[in-house]
Amino acid sequence: MSENERLYLELLRHLREVANLNSAIAVLEWDMETYMPPGASDDRAAVIAHLTGLAHEAYTSVKTEDLLGKLVDAATRGELDRRQAAVVRKEHRHFLASKSQPAEFVKELADLTARSHHVWVAAKEASDLDAFLPNLSRIVEMQREKASYIGHGASPYDALIGEFDPGITADEVAGILTPLRECLVGLVARIGASPQKPDAALAKIPLPADRQRLLCEYVARKIGFDDAYGRLDSTVHPFMTRLHPTDIRITTAYKADDCLDSLGSTVHEAGHGMFEQSFEHGLHGAQAGDTPSLGLHESQSRLWENLVGKSREFLAFVRQLLESHGALIGCTDEELYRAANTVRPSLIRIEADEVTYNLHVCVRFEIEKALIEGTLDVRDVRDAWNSRYREYLGVEVPDDANGVLQDVHWSAGLFGYFPSYTLGNIYSAQVYESALQANPGLETGYARGDFGPLLEWLTRNLYSHCAVMDTPEAIAVATGRLPDPSALIAYFRRKFGEIYGF
Ligand code: ZN
Repeated sequence: MSENERLYLELLRHLREVANLNSAIAVLEWDMETYMPPGASDDRAAVIAHLTGLAHEAYTSVKTEDLLGKLVDAATRGELDRRQAAVVRKEHRHFLASKSQPAEFVKELADLTARSHHVWVAAKEASDLDAFLPNLSRIVEMQREKASYIGHGASPYDALIGEFDPGITADEVAGILTPLRECLVGLVARIGASPQKPDAALAKIPLPADRQRLLCEYVARKIGFDDAYGRLDSTVHPFMTRLHPTDIRITTAYKADDCLDSLGSTVHEAGHGMFEQSFEHGLHGAQAGDTPSLGLHESQSRLWENLVGKSREFLAFVRQLLESHGALIGCTDEELYRAANTVRPSLIRIEADEVTYNLHVCVRFEIEKALIEGTLDVRDVRDAWNSRYREYLGVEVPDDANGVLQDVHWSAGLFGYFPSYTLGNIYSAQVYESALQANPGLETGYARGDFGPLLEWLTRNLYSHCAVMDTPEAIAVATGRLPDPSALIAYFRRKFGEIYGF
């Protein structure tokens, strides 16, 4: 074995040891969200904080630095193969970002966001942005400071986006989201003006929670979530987490009066889970053994939830299942399809439909970019928010709770996170378009419960490249072009033009 080979294997072994700590944290967090008694929250938080500190210490240790330094040199001399060089490059970038911020700064930001959470909760309850403004102002300042530690190109916002979606700049995101937003504003106006409206209430189908659980487990398995290496549980806010590559946990929330809601969340989280189940076991703990970006992860959940899960064929499949579980559905297949695809501009992002969701994200992206670049003062955030909701979605924001205070992200210091939601939608449509071109009969199989060909296509054409590539490159390899919003726009026009009759 060559010296470089030995160092490379030593790096992977060391990263896996750090990952063991993160696995323990993930189990504790999963339990906290599912089964932990509420009185345990303070002690549990202390255990998690302690382990998180140990994991951070181990990752940013001299050992990591030393191994990476030698391997980066070897890669520069051309002594590593292409795959090893890519694994080292990704790890080194992540390591530099993790190490770039002084420990004092990291601690101050953690304290600030922990305190700000409570201030945000109270401000939201009182619907009073002014009560949250001093915290928001300091958080924005510290985000700008963080960007300068990490380093960036033209915009400091690049560094913050890079934490979630490496390989894409703020201006590149704007180049994708701005044309999308311009198209969607027109599309939403046409939908609003159409006299042909689906009856959304038809998609609210009651089913007892225990039967919903059986249904959700069955559908997750059917679309390809491997329950030999994962399981489904219930929670308040659905999520997916990896304990390690052989144990992927997904969750959903059962509402007795609306079984398509829990099913939609299950399909979404199973989409995340199936992507995770494709990651290379041998790279566990390394950046290369994880998603290239949050946007790409989100693209896979939304591909299954929306492009597959809201198709005519999938809904026909689900309808048969629901009826066999005793649900009463008082409408035709076509009425159910239209009801499940109702578009209606609203105030709250997490309740938004497939189309308007992206406009909610555009509002947040534009405001974040301006705040971080210093072209918007924090005191003008409410006006910036409310005027965009009026202009893009045609809705009047009645108060801060239903407006600028609705999301937890800013109080948690998560600037740069929002764009990944819509980037995910864009990637999902582009990838799905290519999958359909390669398999024109793909969707007819859904009605029979046949989803294997889609997962196989995704695995072969997208997932198998993720370890060594950044997202734009992986999308380009899978689809033949860099990410752009054209497939999403074409899909929306085709689907909703038909539903709304234009
Ligand atoms: Zn998701």
